Amino acid sequence: MKIVYLDNNATTKTADEVVNEMMPYLGELYANPSSLYSFGSDCRKRIDMAREQVAALINAEPEEIVFTSCGTESDNAAIWGILKANPSKRHIVTTRVEHPAVKNLYEYLHKIGYQTVFLPVDEQGRLDMDELKASLTPDTAIVSIMWANNETGVLFPIEETSEILNQKGIIFHTDAVQAVGKVPIDLKTHIPNLLSLSGHKFHAPKGIGALYIRKGTPFIPFLLGGHQEKNRRAGTENVASIIGLGKASEIAAEHLNDNISKIKKLRDKLENGILKGLPHVYINGDMTRRLPNTANISFENVDGEVMILLLNEYGICASSGAACNAGLKEPSRILSAMGVPFNRSRGSIRFSLSRYTTEEEIDYAIEKISSVVAQLRSNSILKTDIIDNAL
Ligand code: PLP
Repeated sequence: MKIVYLDNNATTKTADEVVNEMMPYLGELYANPSSLYSFGSDCRKRIDMAREQVAALINAEPEEIVFTSCGTESDNAAIWGILKANPSKRHIVTTRVEHPAVKNLYEYLHKIGYQTVFLPVDEQGRLDMDELKASLTPDTAIVSIMWANNETGVLFPIEETSEILNQKGIIFHTDAVQAVGKVPIDLKTHIPNLLSLSGHKFHAPKGIGALYIRKGTPFIPFLLGGHQEKNRRAGTENVASIIGLGKASEIAAEHLNDNISKIKKLRDKLENGILKGLPHVYINGDMTRRLPNTANISFENVDGEVMILLLNEYGICASSGAACNAGLKEPSRILSAMGVPFNRSRGSIRFSLSRYTTEEEIDYAIEKISSVVAQLRSNSILKTDIIDNAL
C-alpha cells in the first residue's frame, strides 16, 4: 500500500541529495576530522563547509554554529550552558507549550531549586507579551521560548521577544526545531542568544542537530571531553550526518519561498476540504501566524487515537496529540493549555506536510478522513475492534 506521509513534524524523509552527499563519509572517507594528515583534514574542511551551509540558512556566522546530536541535546546544552555560566541567577522563564526537551528540563530545574515561570497561552496558542514582561526579574538567568509549536504550528513573536530581552540584558534561547527550514529565519533581525535546530525535521537524517550561540554569549558546555567544536561540544564529530545537515540546509535555503507557497496551498486545501465535508470540525491555533505545513484539526466526538489507527488502514500517517496513560485518555497538554474543551482535544489530529506532499495525496487524504470520521461518528465501529485488528 502507498504511504501518504502527513506526519512531517514527527520526522521527514531524508532527501536523496542528502543521502548521496553523505555516502562517501559512511564508507571510504572515514578519517577522524581532528587528525593532522590530509585524509583527516579533508573531513574537517567538509565539516566547515557544512557549518557555512547551516549558518547561511539562518543568517548566522559559521563560527556561531555548534553541531550536536539532536534538537533535544541542543535545547539541553543551551539551557545548562547559560545556567552554568551564570550560577548566581536562579530564576528561569519558559512557556506552558514547550516540547518535552525544554519542559522536562525546566521541571527538573524547578525541583532542584530554580524559581520557574511557565507562561500561559491564550485560546489560539498565543503568548501574552505583557505577561512575559511582568515575569522578568533582575535574577532571570534565561528565557526559553519556542519559535514554532510542534503540535499546532503557532509561531511565537521571536523578534519582539528578543528586543524586550536584549534591552534588559536577559539571555534568550529559542527552540526553533520546528521552524528552521520551514519559515525564513534571519538571526541578524531576530536576535536570540541561542537557537536550537534538528536535521530530521527538514530532510537531513535523525541524530544530528545544531546549536547557534551568538558571539559573546557566556556559555559553559555541559558535555566535557575533547576540544571539538572549539571547546563547545566534546565528542568526535558525526561527519556524515553533519555533511547531510549542511546539504539539507543548502536545499532548504534555495527553495524556501517556493516551498512555503506550495506547501501552504496544499495545507489550506486539506483544511478547507475537510471543513467543507464535515460538521463540528475546528482548526486549532492562530490562523494568522502558523507554520505553512501544519494543520491541527479537532473532530468533535471522535477518538483521535482510533482515528489514527483507521487512517493507517489507508496508508495515511498522522499524529494524535492525546495520549493514553494507564487506560485513561489524557488530552494533549498543548491543547489543554489553550483551553480547548475535552470533546474537541481528544479528537485532535496533527497533519504536517512537506515539499514531497502532492496534490493527489491531499485529495486522497480528504476523502479518507471524511469517510473515517463519518464512520466513527455513526458509532458503527467499536474502539476495541480496531485496536484488536491493529495489533
Ligand atoms: N523541540 C521541538 C519543538 C520538537 O518538535 C522536537 C522534536 O519533535 C524536539 C525539540 C526534539 O528534537 P530531536 O528529535 O532532534 O531531539
